[in-house]
Amino acid sequence: VTSLAADLARVVGADHVVAGADAGPLADATEARGLVPGRPAAVVRPGSTAEVAAVVRHCCAAGLAMVPRGGATGLAGGAVPTGGEVVVELGRLRAVRRFDPGLWRIEVEAGLPVAHLHRLAREHGLRFGPDPGAAEQSQVGGMLATNAGGPHAFGLGVARDWVTGVEAVMPPGDVVRAGGPLRKDVAGYDLVGLLVGSEGTLGVVTAAWLRLEPAPEAAVGVVAACGDAEAGCAAVLDVLAAGLRPTVLDVLDEGATAAAAGAFPLGDLGTPAPFVVLAEAEGSAGEAASGAAALREVLAARARAVVVASTPAETRALWRWRDGVSLAVGAQHGGKLGEDVAVPVDRLADLVRATRALGARHGLPTATWGHAGDGNLHATFLADRADADALERAGAAADELLAWAAAAGGTVTGEHGIGLVKHGGLARQWDAPTVALHRAVKRAIDPAGLMNPGKKEP
Ligand SMILES: Cc1cc2nc3c(=O)[nH]c(=O)nc-3n(C[C@H](O)[C@H](O)[C@H](O)COP(=O)(O)OP(=O)(O)OC[C@H]3O[C@@H](n4cnc5c(N)ncnc54)[C@H](O)[C@@H]3O)c2cc1C
Repeated sequence: VTSLAADLARVVGADHVVAGADAGPLADATEARGLVPGRPAAVVRPGSTAEVAAVVRHCCAAGLAMVPRGGATGLAGGAVPTGGEVVVELGRLRAVRRFDPGLWRIEVEAGLPVAHLHRLAREHGLRFGPDPGAAEQSQVGGMLATNAGGPHAFGLGVARDWVTGVEAVMPPGDVVRAGGPLRKDVAGYDLVGLLVGSEGTLGVVTAAWLRLEPAPEAAVGVVAACGDAEAGCAAVLDVLAAGLRPTVLDVLDEGATAAAAGAFPLGDLGTPAPFVVLAEAEGSAGEAASGAAALREVLAARARAVVVASTPAETRALWRWRDGVSLAVGAQHGGKLGEDVAVPVDRLADLVRATRALGARHGLPTATWGHAGDGNLHATFLADRADADALERAGAAADELLAWAAAAGGTVTGEHGIGLVKHGGLARQWDAPTVALHRAVKRAIDPAGLMNPGKKEP
């Protein structure tokens, strides 16, 4: 370890290497999955792309595995070492290399916190669409590596939709640049798309060119309280069929609503707790108002009540409330095990029903909420963190849910990635030749298997 620290210190300076007992254990934000925070051989904090390349070159030459690590807000254990790796932290690479507000584009380094990117865009009347939670801590590189989305993903897309160029260090230490400040480029294979969502298993993202767009003048939140999941999920499909384009189209089932109802900012959600549909219309002030009115009309056909936020402050309060749902659900029984499965949107109601049926079979309460327009729900089994038996039953229920989602033509992860915790999940939803192609891509780029081993394995 001492000689490893000395070798890495020659590359990045002794202040930016931690080795031995001081280097860990390191966790991320993954909850209740028996994930054991691992102890790396060293943590290294390079300060430039050239230093990242030198670190990767050194590790590859020495046969040392690496774990790229951003803000450690990941929910699949992707940035958690399993033991003995070199953790490459990107937090010092936080420069804005170039910002052309008039051209709606920016080049930033991987370690820039996502919230800084949002603030910078906002100060210039622009926006960057993806808005995953934990933005003060999560980094652009981590957001890209997980192809993160957020509440607005239905209308605005996920990280991949906003990246036009990626700079990355690939084994055995080469710097590659795919794309750039270009809005269109079909010359090569989609290497940008390959790196986005690769969870640090192919290379280390060091910088990216991102697309921005003018921020809308106004946004108006709409809440529909429906009698049950059938009515609520049908209302979501009605919104699509009506050709409306809300930026958010979320739902909360009765379990989720009951947990968070006390803090609901726009009145009383009623008893018993309703199945809630949440939407947002945006545009000029007039467009946002007429979009909200159209949503109200469509949703009212299936709802017992519809509320439209009457001021920007009410809309902001609504999203703050929505942000708190996960915590409120977790507080009900002292812990939870949540999945981020996604299904074709016409299977939404089946997903809510399947989650409840599994909860009932394993003796656990459930709560399901999330991005209904994308068919992506946080299907959650409530279990006290201190109750080993309940946690085991939650694990079994979650495992059956993943199998159900794959069989329903969906995915075991619509948002958080495979990481460590969904090891083997991909092979449930892809056939053998497709899985073989996935493995072949990994082998071609990282033949020695040194980039984040054990993660995103089919
Ligand atoms: C409260 C909360 C809310 C969240 N909300 C959302 C949400 O709405 N939508 C959503 O999609 N996710 C959400 N997440 C998950 C998480 O925030 C995202 O996956 C995220 O953007 C990860 O960024 P990070 O910098 O923390 O990455 P980390 O956790 O550090 O790493 C995640 C993965 O990316 C890899 N990685 C990190 N940086 C690099 C790099 N520079 N190059 C190559 N690989 C890299 C790691 O190896 C790991 O596999 C949420 C998490 C929390 C805690």
